[in-house]
Amino acid sequence: MENLDKFYIDGAWVAPISDQKIDVINPATEQSLGNLCIGSTKDADRAVIAASKAFQTWGLTEPSERQIFLRKLCKVYKRRIDEMAQVISLEMGAPKDFAMSPQADSALGTFQAMVEGMEHINWSGPVAPGQVDSFVIREPIGVCALITPWNWPILQVAMKVGAAIAAGCTMVLKPSELSPLSSILLTEMIHEIGLPNGVYNLVNGDGAGVGSALSSHPLVDMVSFTGSTRAGRLIGEAGAKSIKRVALELGGKSPNIIFADTDIDEAVTRGANQVFDNTGQSCDSPTKMLVEDKAYDAAIEVAQKAALKRVSGDPLLAGNHLGPLVSQLQYDKVQSIISRAIDQGAVLVAGGLGKPDGLNQGFFMKTTVLADVTPDMDIWHDEIFGPVLTLTRFRTEDEAVLLSNDTEYGLAGNVQSADFERAKRVARRIRAGYITINGNWPGSGAPFGGYKQSGNGREGGLLGIEDFLEVKAVGGWTGESSHGGLWIPS
Ligand code: NAD
Repeated sequence: MENLDKFYIDGAWVAPISDQKIDVINPATEQSLGNLCIGSTKDADRAVIAASKAFQTWGLTEPSERQIFLRKLCKVYKRRIDEMAQVISLEMGAPKDFAMSPQADSALGTFQAMVEGMEHINWSGPVAPGQVDSFVIREPIGVCALITPWNWPILQVAMKVGAAIAAGCTMVLKPSELSPLSSILLTEMIHEIGLPNGVYNLVNGDGAGVGSALSSHPLVDMVSFTGSTRAGRLIGEAGAKSIKRVALELGGKSPNIIFADTDIDEAVTRGANQVFDNTGQSCDSPTKMLVEDKAYDAAIEVAQKAALKRVSGDPLLAGNHLGPLVSQLQYDKVQSIISRAIDQGAVLVAGGLGKPDGLNQGFFMKTTVLADVTPDMDIWHDEIFGPVLTLTRFRTEDEAVLLSNDTEYGLAGNVQSADFERAKRVARRIRAGYITINGNWPGSGAPFGGYKQSGNGREGGLLGIEDFLEVKAVGGWTGESSHGGLWIPS
């Protein structure tokens, strides 16, 4: 792929200052896809300065001007969506069909939701009805550092880039060093729509280098980060020195509560497949299946069948099979979580340790189900990030809620019940930011984000754009005095 050895700064592809390179590895073959340049603090600095200069004019543009750019981006993205799906599949191993939908597709949906969301933002208006002269206006926050993970490589980028453009911010994107191809392709699209120079910049690199240079840079006003809670904590600390806005979208450990009054076959199969999709590498993956006592044994059988149907295979082929995990590191991590769970008493129902038969090359693993998982096991608390479903039994609604909330995370939750009032009651009691009832997802443009250690921001649509805005109160905005101008500070 072109431009692996360049960065995009101030409207042009430029040679990096750093000469450090790493291989981008195809996780299905373990072969190199090319050499990626890894930036230095100086590369990050150069990009931030370009973004800071561009903000002086871009920050004053009208929302309608910016909406035109986003509309153009939707058009170009649609035209090149096949290429996007191909590079996603190569860089992180999603099989062909999944790489297209939902992976590549969801970024387009995100850009479209931003165009729509811009229509509903209250860009300026009176502080309160009747206060004709006292206005609240919403302005872009400034220069943003956007740092993203590899698991939904273009969706995570689209949520940030789309919102930053909509809000009028300028930006430096640093995608995951494991999945840079999709961001390089998106950058080519952004170049084509002709954004003013410096509004959008791309610097590749790792977390310790470019990532921490951006999150501690004095000219960066906001860091928008998606990734692990471990890195989120470091970024929060780095940003605190200059009181940056730090929006964090972090890890999860999401419950799926299944009451016995629901169709067990349907609910367990759907829940298991949600865990197996993307080879389990989704932050909102409902790995913690909690099943009401009366339906527990039946649920184990259904989960086992579902796992046996979702085998691993070549990502280049069409179908709903599983691709590999993203890296050797991720493979080793998931294997050790399974092994510890079995040692601590979890019952292996499907899959388990080692690679699937016939797939010795690539980071493929077996689709796994573990039953009788209890809160004293490490797997109860650890984010797995692999195709591993766990089952736990509960007896009462209160116990189901208690078990769901027994985690430091609070990203997502799921409830399955034929009793709609109960489902809604439980949905409200789960301490998490994104809930599905009976398999119904909040639609495109719904805010996505976490409670507790799953983060503090919201992404997607209207609320996702608002995360990139500052609020300013102005008296004397219309020249008509409404309250005599008397203000006594407390
Ligand atoms: P990661 O934290 O290792 O890396 C994410 C990004 O942060 C990468 O670009 C990396 O280079 C960078 N980074 C790492 N350390 C850094 C540091 N000290 N300073 C600045 N940048 C740093 O995470 P990952 O392995 O790429 O992604 C998996 C994690 O992401 C999981 O925990 C998953 O739950 C989470 N995630 C969350 C969401 C969400 O919306 N809440 C979405 C997707 C993934």
